[in-house]
Amino acid sequence: MRVSQLFIPTMREVPAEAEVVSHQLLLRAGFIRKVAAGIYHFLPLAQRVLHKITAIIREEMDRAGGQEILMPIVQPAELWHQSNRWNVYGPELFRLRDRHERDFCLGPTHEEMVTALVASEVRSYRQLPLLLYQIQNKYRDERRPRFGLLRGREFIMKDLYSFDRDEAGLDVSYWKMFAAYTRIFTRMGLRFRAVEADTGAIGGNASHEFMVLADSGEAVVVYCPDEACGYAANAEKAESLFVPYEGGDEGPLELVVTPGRRTVEEVTAFLGLPTQRLIKTLIYRTERGLVAALVRGDREVNEVKLQNHLGVLSLELADETAIEAATGAPVGFAGPVHLDLPLVVDREVANLKAAVAGANRADAHYVNVCPGRDFSVADVADIRLVTAGDPCPRCGEPMQTVKGIEVGQVFKLGEKYSRLMGAYYLDEQGVKRPMVMGCYGIGVSRTMAAAVEQNHDADGIVWPVSIAPFHAVVLPVNSQDASQVAAAEGIYRQLSGAGLEVVLDDRDERPGVKFKDADLIGYPVRVTAGRHVAEGKVEVRRRRTGETLLVAETEVVAAVQRFLHEGSGE
Ligand code: ATP
Ligand code: MG
Repeated sequence: MRVSQLFIPTMREVPAEAEVVSHQLLLRAGFIRKVAAGIYHFLPLAQRVLHKITAIIREEMDRAGGQEILMPIVQPAELWHQSNRWNVYGPELFRLRDRHERDFCLGPTHEEMVTALVASEVRSYRQLPLLLYQIQNKYRDERRPRFGLLRGREFIMKDLYSFDRDEAGLDVSYWKMFAAYTRIFTRMGLRFRAVEADTGAIGGNASHEFMVLADSGEAVVVYCPDEACGYAANAEKAESLFVPYEGGDEGPLELVVTPGRRTVEEVTAFLGLPTQRLIKTLIYRTERGLVAALVRGDREVNEVKLQNHLGVLSLELADETAIEAATGAPVGFAGPVHLDLPLVVDREVANLKAAVAGANRADAHYVNVCPGRDFSVADVADIRLVTAGDPCPRCGEPMQTVKGIEVGQVFKLGEKYSRLMGAYYLDEQGVKRPMVMGCYGIGVSRTMAAAVEQNHDADGIVWPVSIAPFHAVVLPVNSQDASQVAAAEGIYRQLSGAGLEVVLDDRDERPGVKFKDADLIGYPVRVTAGRHVAEGKVEVRRRRTGETLLVAETEVVAAVQRFLHEGSGE
């Protein structure tokens, strides 16, 4: 391949909306172009990377017993009615109607499709387990498409679905997939971590997310630094050891004036009390009406836990008008005493003996609030967000946090879809049973961007060898120098002949431009034919480290292969 012929539209200036490094670099280096918010063209370099990624995924899915299929993107609404998700999925679902006024959607995921397929074709225990997967576009009208390929509205996913006879079978499939995912991301040269994940309100089943560790990650991972313990979870799901704290002795409920003191810090500083003794009252709107969530002043509400606990489909903080109507006070003075709303009480709040809380009137708080005595603790749950420093739920060590990009998720679905969509089989005794399912996704296009987030420097992308668009670039420093051009051509042929994926930068450009582009695009190895060609030598440079060797033209293949080999475990 000759760079003069390749479609690699590099650019100097990137649009200001490209906030994260992967978005900026993939645009600048000519891998992608935007079509609309969250919708991109994949240009030749990107397509080559995607092929590398999907080749690794296919090998590992096949090795684990998966069979590849390809399901349609356009899905009939009837299937989504059967699973009850047509109304649940909300505005993320791209809906469309055909000329006969029939409803369809663009698949955001394929549980309905695959379950309906298997329901109609599989009858007997002899046909199970069955592991079907595809690599296909997915569509989600995300509320905030952003960060380039990390959160798109059209993106590429590998999704596998497992069908087993029973829970024990599902367990085998699940851990096979877990192992396959571990191999996949290891082979891609990524630093990642598998963490316990939230399973949603209907869950209760196991799930892990695979997180590529990067500061730009939208997910927070809470983990125990003790390797022997190994606890790690998405902050949405993370728990921590319950440390009892009562905060003082019971006393009579008392109203105190707290003029203009609304925040936790203002109120506790004014009263000279630690923030732990304050009860924070947050009012949420759900489809079933308003609810109040109570956590300690030094904690935040974990909205995922709260939503799961309530079993509601929507949950968001109520607006000022709703809060004032419900509490009869301006925002900042809500409290659980005499509040006519359902209360969800965090277990730490339930444990307090003498607390401070808003009095539901302007400029006033109660002190000596006693949970159970002054308000109901009928509904106690763990609804707090765990943060760095909290004790590990397993071993008590102070935990740490790190940001991650979710590149994959494995999920035990159980019988939910099989029952709703009629995926039953006959067991050895001829008894009809629901198949037990799992689903397993990998964000293919997101993984490409995550790899860039983790592998770049000031000059550009530093592709891990296993997913690089090419292995090496060869360039003559001076394109007017016949001996340098001839040497570069010869090396290009040698490397290609050795089975390496190599490009020749044959453009009549200044050396600086060629060097800059090579670094920006991130070829793992660069071979430069410059002034040493006179002695029959060229420079071989490793992109990641800058390590450079001066080698005889006859030794180039070996030198390039060595750098690639050393980089293959990157
Ligand atoms: P997120 O929490 O980031 O929105 P998700 O948990 O909803 O993702 P899944 O339903 O688990 O996503 O989909 C499987 C995989 O598809 C995810 O692990 C992720 O890698 C990828 N993915 C999901 N949404 C997007 C998106 N909008 N753009 C790119 N990749 C995505
Ligand atoms: Mg997920």
